[in-house]
Amino acid sequence: MTAPRPYALLAEITYRCPLHCPYCSNPVAAPLCEASHRPRDGGYRNGELATEEWKRIIREAAALGVLQIGFSGGEPLDRRDLVELIREAREAKLYTNLITSGIGLDDDRVRALRDAGLDSIQLSFQSDESTLADEIAGARAHEHKLNVAAKIREAGIPLSLNFVIHRRNIDRLPQMITLAEALGAERVELANVQFYGWAFRNRAALLPTREQVDRARDIAIAAKARLADKIEIFYVLPDYYESRPKPCLHGWGQRYLTVNPIGDVLPCPTASSAIPDCVSKMSAHAISRGSGANRRASTDSAERNGCRSRVGVVRKKKSISAVAVVRRRY
Ligand code: SF4
Repeated sequence: MTAPRPYALLAEITYRCPLHCPYCSNPVAAPLCEASHRPRDGGYRNGELATEEWKRIIREAAALGVLQIGFSGGEPLDRRDLVELIREAREAKLYTNLITSGIGLDDDRVRALRDAGLDSIQLSFQSDESTLADEIAGARAHEHKLNVAAKIREAGIPLSLNFVIHRRNIDRLPQMITLAEALGAERVELANVQFYGWAFRNRAALLPTREQVDRARDIAIAAKARLADKIEIFYVLPDYYESRPKPCLHGWGQRYLTVNPIGDVLPCPTASSAIPDCVSKMSAHAISRGSGANRRASTDSAERNGCRSRVGVVRKKKSISAVAVVRRRY
């Protein structure tokens, strides 16, 4: 029997990000963010893969049958080689999508990304209005994002808006949808926060009530029908309050692959947090063929213990409501 081949690759090219969302899905533990054994030259911190390594992964993925690649993070714009990587993906005939906070995007960079072959951009928003959005992001970013959305549209790149929804902003769904219409988005993702990574740590502050979730679902369904000819609306189900677990990516590694900044090949984006030993180093082939390589290659205890001691450094307390939250700082 032939094993199904994945058709989508999520390239998490860095965990660095200038924002500090309390629901960030990046790993909470420094050991999962750093490859301390890797050389630190090439301008990339924490053992991130170098440009040529990413190019190889892109070519390998295309050879494997992957059709689309999403450049994500962290904030992928933090990588100076993003344009080069997108060009490589285009040359490998992959559909390219950028998932970004928009921080670091200006006119020149938008045009450079488009000219390199970028097919679409998913721009994340923390809310529809600046006070709450900036509070959630832990930085003044909302006004910049509005400008960035206009630049993306001017450059002719299809725009999708991503909202992560939780207790603090879930009641503003109608305003978020109005913002998506005003900005000319072709697609909007209303994603209930998924409780892993930092969100799991901050669930006391983020978990909406069942009534809020029910109301949001009704609003999303009505907007989907009303805007059917204009905007694609995706409502991502919440982790909690469902009668049964969500389907899991059509089977690990069967349709989607993730490669993280330090070269772990993951069968789902949260695998390194959920089951740290299920990953393979830097070979898309290994994991999709189900070989014995589905193991982390760098699990020696010295490295793990060394990294664990740094976990305290990334814990900082701030507050987005009466309940204190912990935010990532790397
Ligand atoms: S969720 Fe927020 S902090 Fe995490 S990568 Fe995205 S924009 Fe950055």
